[in-house]
Amino acid sequence: MSIGGVERGSAGGILIRDGAVLAPEGWWKPGYVYLEQGKVRAAGAGDPPPALVEVAGRVLSARGKAVLPGVINAHTHFSQVLMRGLAGGRPLVQWLKELIWPLQSALTPEEMRLAALVGLVENLHCGVTHVVQHHKVVRGPAFTDAVCRAAQTVGLRMTLARSWADMGANPEPADAILDDLRRLYREWHQPGRLEIANGPISTWRCSVDTMQKTHALAGEFGAPTHIHVAETQEEVEMTLELFGRRPVDWLESIGVLDQRTQVVHAVWLEEGEKQRLAERGATVVHCPVSNMVLGSGIAPVADFLRKGVRVLLGTDGPASNDTQDIWETLKAAVGLARVANLDPTLLPPAQALRLITGGRTVQEGAPADIILVNLRHARAVPVHDLDSALTLCTHGSDVDTVIVDGRILMEESRVLVIDEPALLEEAESALRHLRRRLGWE
Ligand SMILES: [Zn+2]
Repeated sequence: MSIGGVERGSAGGILIRDGAVLAPEGWWKPGYVYLEQGKVRAAGAGDPPPALVEVAGRVLSARGKAVLPGVINAHTHFSQVLMRGLAGGRPLVQWLKELIWPLQSALTPEEMRLAALVGLVENLHCGVTHVVQHHKVVRGPAFTDAVCRAAQTVGLRMTLARSWADMGANPEPADAILDDLRRLYREWHQPGRLEIANGPISTWRCSVDTMQKTHALAGEFGAPTHIHVAETQEEVEMTLELFGRRPVDWLESIGVLDQRTQVVHAVWLEEGEKQRLAERGATVVHCPVSNMVLGSGIAPVADFLRKGVRVLLGTDGPASNDTQDIWETLKAAVGLARVANLDPTLLPPAQALRLITGGRTVQEGAPADIILVNLRHARAVPVHDLDSALTLCTHGSDVDTVIVDGRILMEESRVLVIDEPALLEEAESALRHLRRRLGWE
């Protein structure tokens, strides 16, 4: 017999039952999900059919938990895992020049590996099954390769946006950038699993020619261009000075504003720029906690959503957040949009939740990327409304189980893919060495 495409006698998959399941039509309370061979093979409201219980190799109880697709952290920098706590008291450009860039240029490939592993494990704990790593340390293939290997070890889906700057301090030659991107596509690009993207650092450090060439190269693989845009007013001024256009206008004028463009921050935009983001189908990656910590400003997210711009959330790097807890970022996004507009009706919880699920739900045929979020704790009980509980009451530490591509990476908050205590110890020791090398202690 067949139940939702599941054949009796097939190799046992994972059955999740008795939880609240985020389905296309709303919440099933309770519902069940059956995962096999990397896909959701069956899902429905109520109890699972007995035949499904029989074929399952594992049965996970989700009683008191929400069951939803793994969430997305659409912007971070793993190198900054070794830079937490360094955000205080400096404006963006000064912070970059005095702290972040010197630290980045002192990192070894081994330190990059540890930073990436800790960063990935932190995202895993938060239920992130797809992370966008804007990779800034490009002093040789060893750094990028270390991050790609770390993603394979931890098992998350990753987009690695290879950062570059061919203008300003320490510019990289355009040929070297293009050669390295080609190498990364050749050696690492696996669509849906480990995607290589074009990652120009910002609109004020990248030349027109290299922007166009790298965007076209990523386009050959259907991959995005991921770039910091208008994070601060100073950056807008610098772009105006260099190119005579505001950041989004500049991207459009050079042909790098389309459905593959991911515009990170988008804090200081004029009305016409917002409209063009909508018309061109670009995605905005909103990083409200980072914007607050660095005092950068408030992105006009309500305007973006009203105009139909696709918005995802990013934590940004741990040096300007200082965590990668996407749930904290979600709550901040809701609060900030409401206070900026003095309007408590903005970003209702179900809409807000889509900023981290990307609008995905649990349904047959979808990838088997599923998380279980514990809602039976004093911060959430009693639960009137599941969307509210997830949006306003949840911390990353409430994520209980994470499954990616049908593989359980974390169960009951225990990471199964790496020795986490040993990793944290190694990272602490690496930081001590790094500080000594920099003469900071
Ligand atoms: Zn960033």
